[in-house]
Amino acid sequence: MAGKIPRVPVREQDPQIRAKNFKEVCLGYSDEEAMLEARRCLQCKKPACMTACPVSVKIPFFIAQVAKGNFEEAARIISLDSSLPAICGRVCPQESQCEGSCVMGVKNEPVAIGKLERFVADWCREKGVKFTEREPLNGKKVAVVGSGPGGLACASDLAKLGYDVTIFEVLHKAGGVLTYGIPEFRLPKDTVVAAEVENVRQLGVKIETNVVVGRTITIDDMFDKEGFDAVFIGSGAGLPKFMDIPGENLNGVVSANEFLTRNNLMKAYKEGSRTPIYVGNKVCVVGGGNVAMDAARTALRLGAEVKVVYRRTEKELPARLEEVHHAKEEGVEFVMLTNPVEIVGNEKGWVTGLKCEKMELGEPDASGRRSPVAVPDSHFMIDADVVIMSLGTSPNPLIAQTTPGLERNRKGGLVASEDGATTREGVFAGGDAVTGAATVILAMGAGKRAAAAIDEYLKNKK
Ligand SMILES: Cc1cc2nc3c(=O)[nH]c(=O)nc-3n(C[C@H](O)[C@H](O)[C@H](O)COP(=O)(O)OP(=O)(O)OC[C@H]3O[C@@H](n4cnc5c(N)ncnc54)[C@H](O)[C@@H]3O)c2cc1C
Ligand code: SF4
Repeated sequence: MAGKIPRVPVREQDPQIRAKNFKEVCLGYSDEEAMLEARRCLQCKKPACMTACPVSVKIPFFIAQVAKGNFEEAARIISLDSSLPAICGRVCPQESQCEGSCVMGVKNEPVAIGKLERFVADWCREKGVKFTEREPLNGKKVAVVGSGPGGLACASDLAKLGYDVTIFEVLHKAGGVLTYGIPEFRLPKDTVVAAEVENVRQLGVKIETNVVVGRTITIDDMFDKEGFDAVFIGSGAGLPKFMDIPGENLNGVVSANEFLTRNNLMKAYKEGSRTPIYVGNKVCVVGGGNVAMDAARTALRLGAEVKVVYRRTEKELPARLEEVHHAKEEGVEFVMLTNPVEIVGNEKGWVTGLKCEKMELGEPDASGRRSPVAVPDSHFMIDADVVIMSLGTSPNPLIAQTTPGLERNRKGGLVASEDGATTREGVFAGGDAVTGAATVILAMGAGKRAAAAIDEYLKNKK
């Protein structure tokens, strides 16, 4: 029976309309749609979906409750493993994790696990249902650096175990990339992100914003002056990379991180915002990841004509398929097998275009991906007023530089074991600060493993 029901499509804003607004693209399932989709789950005895989830959400168990219309029980089951379900349901790369492993996907379409998780979390928020049970305070204090998904996951697990947890965040709002990076049209800030951060607060976690760890307070101060017993560093990877080509200092060249932060955190897209944002008429976004798609779709909504310039083919685009599909539907143009070699400007120092060369795919490199090779004498120009560089980010070195004994690896990430223990006793780390730019759910998984390791460490500490 389950195999006969086709995957229930999710309603979305019309591409022509949504390309001009910042409202959420995906409209989610109704109660009936969610129950129908949940009935497609085969309730496997050995659920491959669950094994593929980095935080091991009990997927078939929550789906079984959705199928029966017991949405509150479904939410309680999810809350045992995930503190950010409305966020994960929206932005996790399910196609390469839970849904990528779902047996229904072998002959049919996989169960829409992400959309069901999102449905359950949204239902709870709208009904005001919360899960805030925690152990009584055990007298031990833990500091968490950074309020992204890694920090929030670590803080909520520790709070549930009875620790007195304080998160220190450099920005004026909590949420990390969820707040400053991922755009409103994929992840609404004031409703979804703020509500899930509030749920973490309601577990008793304190969040101190506008604190630069490494400047306002050091990790040593946390132990010696503030009496913390352990520290988790989840400071992310917010340092943008550039190409190091001529013209990168021209007016109109901006990193995707800055462009998105102005728009998301500082609400530059709203009338009356005090933060300016410049898009001009023609924007080139260099790169092909999720961040590039977000920057391109944001620039489009701000009124520009947008081209994504990427040096490999569409098949190698690292962005989620759904994001590429949405970007195309909205009118973003893709210029593939193209590599910028110079950004060209006018006498006033403003960008006028991107000089590029054509590429072709050569032999596979060490990672198995075919490397792009320049085609001789193939230079050409693309007109542009703004160039958004989206070539990845790396961890900021500030905390390692101001914390004796904290080692970094070759790529600038903190050296940490599988459970997050760093080279400095009592200091744990996880998420992008360790791995470099990765995903929300991997950061959450790292935060949760570190919380368990911190608990173990503090229980055994004399
Ligand atoms: C535009 C964009 C789109 C993305 N889209 C997706 C997606 O669709 N799906 C997905 O799974 N992943 C996506 N990612 C990646 C994902 O968001 C990150 O992998 C994830 O947020 C990492 O979590 P984190 O907790 O390690 O770090 P972050 O989310 O970066 O949080 C780190 C926090 O630490 C704070 N901080 C840094 N230094 C200090 C300091 N010295 N003192 C105090 N606080 C500090 C930062 O301000 C930040 O709030 C995207 C990333 C970007 C940039
Ligand atoms: S693998 Fe698919 S069908 Fe099996 S339990 Fe998980 S979601 Fe259900």
